[in-house]
Amino acid sequence: MRTAKTVDRLRQAVRAARQEGKTIGLVPTMGFLHAGHMSLVDRARRETDLVVVSIFVNPAQFGPSEDFEAYPRDEERDLAMLEEAGVDLVFMPSAEEMYPEGFATYVLQEGSLTETLCGRSRPGHFRGVTTIVAKLFNLVGPDRAYFGQKDAQQVAVIRRMVKDLNFDVRIVACPIVREDDGLALSSRNTYLDSRQRQDATVLSRALFEARAAIEAGQRRAAAIRELVRNRIAAVADARIDYVEVVDADDLTPLEKLQGRIMIAVAVRIGKPRLIDNIQMTVDR
Ligand code: AMP
Repeated sequence: MRTAKTVDRLRQAVRAARQEGKTIGLVPTMGFLHAGHMSLVDRARRETDLVVVSIFVNPAQFGPSEDFEAYPRDEERDLAMLEEAGVDLVFMPSAEEMYPEGFATYVLQEGSLTETLCGRSRPGHFRGVTTIVAKLFNLVGPDRAYFGQKDAQQVAVIRRMVKDLNFDVRIVACPIVREDDGLALSSRNTYLDSRQRQDATVLSRALFEARAAIEAGQRRAAAIRELVRNRIAAVADARIDYVEVVDADDLTPLEKLQGRIMIAVAVRIGKPRLIDNIQMTVDR
């Protein structure tokens, strides 16, 4: 496994692979890797010849009062996990490498996809995401890029960007990896103390209960939102940011449940803001 800390080194390595006719898979991450990240790596390993993983805690996607400084980092452990998984190339640039003095060009996606859900509570977040992902796509030129459904809005925003800016890359969305008790894996789970860790299972419990209600015939989005809100509100230390029932593709709010739908939640428990979602297809 090779590591590249600079744009030049990355470009060299990628160019060599391309000349050999290899297909390239890219897995962008912020590091502090867990089984969720590794599921993307494994999928990339199966589907492409050269697997590139980026580890970069992207300052541009954190708000001024968010956890950029505190965000967990463990370079040594991350590299050992990636080596073990058979990754070919790890790109781990410094902030100065990606945003050198005088950096001024951002990718800004307008419209409802970036304004709803997390976009509403994290202004500027998706501008940071689209900018860094566009840079990575330009640098690596991947045939396929792998993202987790855990960040379903991010997937929708990136698909839109790829379409609008004509990036020649296939976006592959991978299922959410969960702990045995349902909690979606996240680097931010490390912020939870044991009591909060227990409380945090309420996100997936509420979502699974909502799914069961829909399977039992509930078709009113308001009733599902209410059910999920009530379950989460029953946990004293949980502060709801949003509970939304939306179209899974364009993220517009629904009244009646039909077609591909998503129930998405963001909840603060102690320090971290946790997100989770489920997607399902609902018939009439
Ligand atoms: P992050 O390091 O949090 O920016 O995540 C990097 C990538 O891993 C993103 O595409 C995430 O959606 C994905 N990811 C994070 N957690 C999970 C999970 N529990 N299951 C599947 N994918 C995940």
